[in-house]
Amino acid sequence: MAVFSSFSRRLFRKQFPLFSFYFSFSTVSPSPPPIRVALTESVGRAVFTTRPIAAADLIHTASPAVCHPYSGRASCYSCLAALSNSQPLRAPFCSQHCHQRSKGYYDVEMKANWVAFDDYCGSRGLKYPFLVKRLACMVIAGDARSDTLDILQPANFTPEMVSKMEEEFVLLRNAFAEALIGDDHIAFLTKQWYINVLARIRINAFRIELVGGLYEDLLSLAVASVEAEAAVGNAVYILPSFYNHDCDPNAHIIWIDNAHAKLKALRDIDEGEELRICYIDASLERDARRELLFQGFGFQCNCSRCLHGD
Ligand SMILES: [Zn+2]
Ligand SMILES: [Zn+2]
Repeated sequence: MAVFSSFSRRLFRKQFPLFSFYFSFSTVSPSPPPIRVALTESVGRAVFTTRPIAAADLIHTASPAVCHPYSGRASCYSCLAALSNSQPLRAPFCSQHCHQRSKGYYDVEMKANWVAFDDYCGSRGLKYPFLVKRLACMVIAGDARSDTLDILQPANFTPEMVSKMEEEFVLLRNAFAEALIGDDHIAFLTKQWYINVLARIRINAFRIELVGGLYEDLLSLAVASVEAEAAVGNAVYILPSFYNHDCDPNAHIIWIDNAHAKLKALRDIDEGEELRICYIDASLERDARRELLFQGFGFQCNCSRCLHGD
């Protein structure tokens, strides 16, 4: 099974002219990470190092733009950290800090009745609509912009896929409308917005698996591969979504105790080298990997491992 997911870059070649640009990190961190994001002729958007990086070094961290725990998990509703048994269910946060920073969207969510929406998505095993619901609550609360995820590449949905999303969209919008959240506050919540957000989430959502105390063990492996039961939820990030895939990656993304992601070097990396992560379980056979990547992300993998038949 896929350890985590990200996206294919192919469509960006069609959408943007060929040029190189730099992201400014100065507002995010006092010391910019040693990377730049550029558009390339061959693979579209890609992440490159700006100095040599040693194996196991932390390249940068990333906070989720939006995340949501899986239902039935004793996870913090804000950061997905494990909750201790002593924490009351009425306040599903790991700390006062998480409670405070989530207050806006959590108050919005608590105003509405989610039984119909949750039942509909839960009974069908749908997880991504919960990320859309979270983002909608954040937008209504003023915690996020409605175009937060627009910079990410969308999946291509067929008309059949879009029609299947009609019901969950109606249930989501009705929940807010019946909670008497004013029309002006949910004006952004159109079916087109719902589909556009879901299309970004579909390709860019990571499945969060906390490694916690297992982290030292993971360092000895070529690629982190954690038991599926460790998955606690999904999250979408902006910068980590710009990393391209490689079946023999030089970087990986890990989560220690919560959804705050760490991008780490798997080996020594030269200055100017492209950083790549593996979107799927790298231990799979070549054909299985290529099938998963094509089905899940819409591209044929032409990494050197695949080209050499490994
Ligand atoms: Zn928390
Ligand atoms: Zn490959």
